[in-house]
Formats: sequence, structure tokens, C-alpha cells
Amino acid sequence: MADFSLSLNDDQLQIKDWIHQFAVDVIRPAAHEWDEREEFPWPIVQEAAKIGLYGLDFIMNSMGDPTGLTLPVAIEEIFWGDAGIGMAIMGSGLAAAGIAGNGTPEQMIEWVPQCYGTPDDVKLGAFCVSEPDAGSDVSSLRTRAVYDQAKDEWVLNGTKAWITNGGIANIHVVVAAVEPELKGRGQASFIIPPNTKGLSMGQKYKKHGIRASHTSEVVLEDVRIPGSCLLGGKEKLDAKLARARANTSSGKQPAMATFEATRPAVGAQALGVARAAYEFALDYAKERKAFGRAIIMNQAIAFKLANMATEIDASRLLIWRAAWLSKNGGFKNAEGSMSKYYASETAVRVTEDAIQILGGYGYTREYPVERWHRDAKIHTIFEGTSEIQQLVISRAISGLRIE
Ligand SMILES: Cc1cc2nc3c(=O)[nH]c(=O)nc-3n(C[C@H](O)[C@H](O)[C@H](O)COP(=O)(O)OP(=O)(O)OC[C@H]3O[C@@H](n4cnc5c(N)ncnc54)[C@H](O)[C@@H]3O)c2cc1C
Repeated sequence: MADFSLSLNDDQLQIKDWIHQFAVDVIRPAAHEWDEREEFPWPIVQEAAKIGLYGLDFIMNSMGDPTGLTLPVAIEEIFWGDAGIGMAIMGSGLAAAGIAGNGTPEQMIEWVPQCYGTPDDVKLGAFCVSEPDAGSDVSSLRTRAVYDQAKDEWVLNGTKAWITNGGIANIHVVVAAVEPELKGRGQASFIIPPNTKGLSMGQKYKKHGIRASHTSEVVLEDVRIPGSCLLGGKEKLDAKLARARANTSSGKQPAMATFEATRPAVGAQALGVARAAYEFALDYAKERKAFGRAIIMNQAIAFKLANMATEIDASRLLIWRAAWLSKNGGFKNAEGSMSKYYASETAVRVTEDAIQILGGYGYTREYPVERWHRDAKIHTIFEGTSEIQQLVISRAISGLRIE
């Protein structure tokens, strides 16, 4: 078990500085352009891949760290640069986590690298759970997977909604109902290999924030995949279904397991956005004069900044604790959800206060704080809304099935 420490080790400090420099030199200068274009920032992701920031090695090294802190530290810096580009760099990680969480070692070796490609040929992964009628309520997915025993193939039909990298990814990991009457316990995760017939991109969403990140529907029409693309394998699925039918299963759902493990990382994304806005507002408040003095000399402004600094630090502490626990003994009281919930709500508050501190300038696209405010908001919605985090936390602390 690694010691929990608030001092980053030399490797972590080096990674933090290295990514911060990339964020300063490459991500920040590109942020406004890609937000306006609302397109996937391929050249920036390619640059990230060339320096080793996008790819399997980076993810494996960060996730392999026994303290758990390297990944949130890295993510905070990337998202300090820009959240839309940050999602473009980190989005494939969701698919990789879905494979790692549910697949066999052989499946991981085969498919995870294909979510990233190589620096010369960058690829993407997409993790497809949500549907038009099932977002928070992942137990009621309508996408069906039916086994064709004669051909040892699975046939998938359905529509997935709001999928990061949906339709432009090389690898789509799809969660589907195998036995819908068993709700969440009757679901399984599948790999849809590159260029599989029947998978297509539906509408591409126009979004409030993180506009450089690609979000689309994914339509599955008689998608046929080999039996080997069922994550975890048929034997394991059959055993799980048998337990569910006999009502002795744990109730653990594949999608939920993935989301739980990735929550501190999502908190770190929000933290990066909040810190960007706070730093900008602090500098601005020292420079901007009103009534003959810097606006920070008014308690109304200085106290806002004091609250921002305090809540940002509190978010980081919750995230680091959760990240450490995820590697050292696991969560006890939904600490992963606590970190994501608090950091996301903080990011929305902090970025709104930053606009207030910048006044009229803050409201215009001339300054980045309005973009940070738009970008912050997604964190209270995806990978479990704030209300769902509250639900998870209240169930964990009470031991009761709070509705
Ligand atoms: C930009 C973006 C990227 C995304 N990327 C992905 C992705 O890559 N893969 C993927 O699978 N999904 C993705 N999503 C989907 C996202 O995870 C869902 O939007 C989210 O889980 C919420 O689901 P919903 O939109 O259906 O809202 P709903 O579930 O309909 O919720 C609507 C409101 O009701 C509240 N609510 C619902 N149930 C309860 C309850 N029991 N108690 C209290 N309040 C409740 C919610 O908190 C929310 O405020 C993405 C979404 C966006 C916007």
C-alpha cells in the first residue's frame, strides 16, 4: 500500500511541469479557435500524441502509479489548458477504462491500443452507454444484443446518445441489454471493431461548452460482431445471467463499474477549469481599477476570490483522496462520487464568479472566462449528474436505498 502524501514525488512534479508547459504553449493558444469551430482538434491531439501525452503508454504509466495521484495531476493541467481540447485528448480513456473494467487480459491487449493508434496514426475510442431515453437510469437501456449461436456472433441494434467521439472512433465499446427483463443485471459490454457494417454516426450535437470535443449519436443497425467481442467472455456472462435469474447476483452493472472508477478523474477535469478561471480573475482583480483603486481592494471581490481558492483546494484534496483510495483499499463512503460532485459544482460557481469579477469583459468572447463557465457546466452532467452523485453518496453513508 502506498502512503498517502500531499507532496508529489519527483516523477509527478516532472509530469505536472511537462504537461503545464504543453498546456501553455499548445493547448491554451488553440482553445478559442477550436471552441468557435466546434470541431475535433485533430492537429492538437496529434501534437499531444507526438510528445507522448496522448496514447497507451501515457495512460498505462499514469494509471499504474501506486499513489493514484499522477492521473488527476496530469488531467488538472490538461484541462487548465482547455476543457474541450482536454476531452479530445482524454475521451478515448473512457473506452479504454470500459475494456479494462470488463474485458479479459487478452481483450485488453488486443483492443486498448487500438483506442489510441500511434503518434503517426492517431485513433480514438468511444464508450457508448447513454441512450435518448436512458441517461442516469442506465438499467433501462434499450439497445439489444442477441446471440446467434450458429455463427457465434452477436447482433446489436439500438441508438446511443451524447457519445464522446461517437462515430469518429476506431473502437466503440457498447453496453447493451442481453436480457432486458433483468434490467442492469442483464447487460453486457461489447467491442465494435473498426469499420464494422451497421454502425453509423447519427446527429452531431451542437453544445453549450467543451465544443472542441466531438459528441454524437451512434446508431447500431444489425451490427454483427464475433463472439470474441463480448467483453469478459460468454462463460462469465452466462454465469452472471444465471445468478441474476436466481436473484443472487451482486447487482453490479458493467457501465456503473466503469463510471465509479473514473469519477475522481472527472473531478480533476473540473478542477483544472476552475483553477484556470480563478487565476485569471485574481490577476484581473489586481489590475482593474474602479473608483480609483484595484477592484480586489473591495471585500466583495476579495472574499469571492478567497472562496474560490478555498473551494478549489478542497476539491483537490477530495480528488487526491479518492484517487489514492481507488488504488489503496477502495472506496468506503462513495469518496469518488464526493470528489466529482464537489469539484464539478465548485467549477460552475468559480467560473461564474470569475465572469462577475471581470464584469462586461467577462461576458464577452474576447476573454476566456465565459468559455470556462460554459465548459465547467458539463461536469455536473456527464458521468453521473450531481443529483446522481448525491444519491450514491446518501446511499453509501446511510446504507439505505434512498430514492
Ligand atoms: C457532452 C456530453 C458528453 C457525453 N459523453 C458520454 C459518453 O461518452 N458516453 C455515454 O455513455 N454518455 C455520455 N454522455 C451522456 C451523459 O452521461 C448523460 O447525459 C447523463 O448521464 C445524464 O443523463 P440524461 O441526459 O438522460 O439526464 P436524465 O437522466 O434524464 O436526468 C435529467 C435530470 O433529472 C435528474 N435525475 C434523474 N434521475 C434522478 C434521481 N433518481 N434522483 C434525482 N434526480 C434525478 C438528473 O440529475 C438531471 O438533473 C455525455 C453527455 C454530454 C452532454
